[in-house]
Amino acid sequence: MADIKQLTPSVVNKIAAGEVIERPASVVKELLENSIDAGASRIDVHVEQGGTELVRVSDNGCGIAADQLLLAVASHATSKIQDADDLFQVESLGFRGEALASISEVSQLILRSRQEGHESGVQLAVHGGSLSPLEPCGCPIGTTVEVRNLFFNTPVRRKFLRRVQTESGHVSEAFTRIALPNPGVHMTLSRGEKKTHDLPPVDDWRDRIAHFFGRDLADGLVAVTSEIDGVRLSGYVADPAFSRSNNRMQYLFLNGRHIRDRSLQHALGEAYRGLLLHGRHPIGFLMLQMPAEDVDVNVHPTKLEVRFQDGRQLYRQLLSTLRETFLSMDLTRHVAMPGDQAREAASRQDDLPSTPRLPLSRPPVIAAGLPEPFGGEARSQRGEWAEVFAGKFRVEDPSEQIEAGELPAEPQRPSVSPLGVQLHQRYLVTENDEGMVVIDQHALHERILYEQLRSRVDEGGLEKQPLLVPEPVEMTADEAAAVLEVADSLAQLSLDVESFGGNTVLVTSYPAMLRRANPAELIRHVADKMLEGAEPPEARDLLDELLHLMACKGAVKAGDPLSVEEVTALLEQRHLCEDAHHCPHGRPTALVFSREELDRRFLRT
Ligand code: ADP
Ligand code: MG
Repeated sequence: MADIKQLTPSVVNKIAAGEVIERPASVVKELLENSIDAGASRIDVHVEQGGTELVRVSDNGCGIAADQLLLAVASHATSKIQDADDLFQVESLGFRGEALASISEVSQLILRSRQEGHESGVQLAVHGGSLSPLEPCGCPIGTTVEVRNLFFNTPVRRKFLRRVQTESGHVSEAFTRIALPNPGVHMTLSRGEKKTHDLPPVDDWRDRIAHFFGRDLADGLVAVTSEIDGVRLSGYVADPAFSRSNNRMQYLFLNGRHIRDRSLQHALGEAYRGLLLHGRHPIGFLMLQMPAEDVDVNVHPTKLEVRFQDGRQLYRQLLSTLRETFLSMDLTRHVAMPGDQAREAASRQDDLPSTPRLPLSRPPVIAAGLPEPFGGEARSQRGEWAEVFAGKFRVEDPSEQIEAGELPAEPQRPSVSPLGVQLHQRYLVTENDEGMVVIDQHALHERILYEQLRSRVDEGGLEKQPLLVPEPVEMTADEAAAVLEVADSLAQLSLDVESFGGNTVLVTSYPAMLRRANPAELIRHVADKMLEGAEPPEARDLLDELLHLMACKGAVKAGDPLSVEEVTALLEQRHLCEDAHHCPHGRPTALVFSREELDRRFLRT
């Protein structure tokens, strides 16, 4: 083995840079934290090429004294703590004294700063870790840091950078995470020529949330607040009517710092249990304020994770606060009464109120045109039996009986088709050679629609319906970038999207088959899928995913009453469901009770 040698400061800094600076967005984060720590009331961020060419952050904060400028870029040099005890009293966002040293090691950095009471400012340039002499310069009070050509001297790192759009998305997210908890600071973000965010200071936190996530969401927010043993919880969670398919819209801030905490996110999910469908995640913007000594922020180089002294107490506080808030709210609209269609629709969270049912595959078949094997005599007999059964099952006026407490609050009117019967407005019961088959009506219809959509796409595309009024969909910056990245794949589905400036994506057409489908929902789903994993899905998988989604949204739901004709039309294609076994969500789609088994149970053997 070679001799042991002390690493040079330059190598040490490069190693440190690897931990703290992963991509341009990390630079934005560190510089913004410094500006906030400097007490700035105005911060302007400018990036070129997703920050790979240039990141510039200017603030009007306290500035750095001329004789301190060299220290600012030295490693382990900070004005924020002095000794080890201070590590447990951290009131600032920074404290490690590593960011500027790390950044200047792997980029071309220029630092300009001027303090109040000084005629001019001072400038320091650092090129890949080597310092140029200080120079006087003209500049306003405050600090500007310019970072060019990130990773120019660490080519492997540079190669790992993603497309400009993707890096831009990360930059926006870093900006969002600082701008959200600092509503009193005027912040702007521009990319190239375009100013994508201009956030004047606001008093009401919801105004800042609205800026990023739209007025609709902000207006539907529910305020939460509590204080237990010096821990103050405040902020907003979204009405259960708003939810996401991932947990990226759960923003948690601890003493002004954006953090990720699995335990607290779990508490949030628990609070919504029963209010959201499986697989949906709540939306929340929550601030925690607690004494600095109750939390260790020095567990992660990027300070994203922290360690609480009493994490379990915090979990309970969050959960109980949310539960009490929900209990005091009127959530009764989730309980639907029969006959009240609007409320029923609103209560079915998996249903899009604006998505009408897709046409069944063929015109409904009426008894007269019965397919084989139910012809001739057999038919008339079955028909009669059907009527008898129907009479037996049919309730004259369910609402009376519900009032009298004789029926559960869901009418049970089986539709009896010659091919089978609908029970509990959910299941289709029929037979095959093997025995009795119980089919989930939603699963079957979903499957039929999926097959139809798939074959139309294979045949050269779905018929396109241009939107008379293109629909703008407000998203976060990285969501918008992700959607635009796959615009070509979406076009294959006749779903045309284009950028509408800022973070808004404009939907200009949609597949005619979906009639008045909800394009925003589809687009959001695309964004969620794209950002879900470490790598975006392949175009083909995304396409398939979307076909499934369209089919799912278009299909009849559990609880939808079906006409006799609809039951017939569905059951004509029941093999699709029996073949498939499971729906994309993992539930079985059809259960077969063999005749032998039934015979055995009825002691017929
Ligand atoms: P840290 O923030 O952990 O102290 P940094 O490397 O980010 O470490 O910054 C080093 C020091 O430079 C800070 O402690 C602070 O004194 C000074 N500094 C950096 N950025 C600014 C700024 N925008 N305004 C005023 N001072 C700054
Ligand atoms: Mg810092």
